[in-house]
Amino acid sequence: MVHAKKRFGQNFLIDEDITEQIADSACLTREDTVLEIGPGTGALTKRLAARAGRVLAVEIDESLGKTLEETLGGMEHVSVLYQDILKCDLDALRADHNDGRAFKVVANLPYYISTPVIMKLLQDTVPPLSCTVMVQKEMGERMCASPGGKEYGALSVAVQYYARPELICEVPPSAFRPQPKVTSAVIRLVPLESAPVSVKDRDFFFRVTEGAFAHRRKTLVNSLSADASLGLSKERIAEALRALAGDGLLSQGGKEAPPENIRAERLSIRAFAALADRLGE
Ligand code: SAM
Repeated sequence: MVHAKKRFGQNFLIDEDITEQIADSACLTREDTVLEIGPGTGALTKRLAARAGRVLAVEIDESLGKTLEETLGGMEHVSVLYQDILKCDLDALRADHNDGRAFKVVANLPYYISTPVIMKLLQDTVPPLSCTVMVQKEMGERMCASPGGKEYGALSVAVQYYARPELICEVPPSAFRPQPKVTSAVIRLVPLESAPVSVKDRDFFFRVTEGAFAHRRKTLVNSLSADASLGLSKERIAEALRALAGDGLLSQGGKEAPPENIRAERLSIRAFAALADRLGE
């Protein structure tokens, strides 16, 4: 039996029904090449291989090589690369393994790198056709959240700027060995053909969003003015929020607060885009 390494976030799937459900929810055809991140012992990989034209699996832990060979031996349309996905040149992977075309990504992601991996995939020059990923349930909820709730935050805005997220199912700790302490969720992300809002400066838009949610309990005016890297005065932020309210972008379903008292969780992506554009002028 393989000894799971904590430092690589190894929680191997042992529930065959759930493994099957993840592979099904990726909507694969023989035309697809799957990029699987972290094949582990290959439980999911072999099910992906049964559905897709090709599977390229990227695994950081070379010591899993023997087990993976046993699980996947003889499957000529499956290749395993022993690399750190965060250091991989995705352009080169596409060129070498899929004639430069986009992959479908499927992964039971190691929790410690879920966010950077997802953002790397979504911000890629050629984004995946879809990403079907297992993440911590709370993270999945944050990716899918709409304005107004406590799950809605900078991650919701960042993910929904690039993709349409959908919660596929929740997965209990008992589906893994060793069992994680938390519940997981499978999320399917379909990258958008174009951004849902246009912004003058995308980096600034994301910095404003992060600054806005850095102190959730504070008002936007206090939270954004506390971020020294943005260099924004309270008056400037309040003025921009009043302008947004004038444009009808701060509507709160009847519970209208003065614009300068509003908190970040109330702003839609469209409102954040308008706010960043105004503050960046
Ligand atoms: N797919 C397997 C399964 O479902 O049973 C394993 C999932 S386990 C949660 C995460 C896998 O990602 C492990 O095999 C781990 O070694 C691998 N991994 C961790 N960090 C990685 C990285 N930076 N790049 C590639 N693989 C990584």
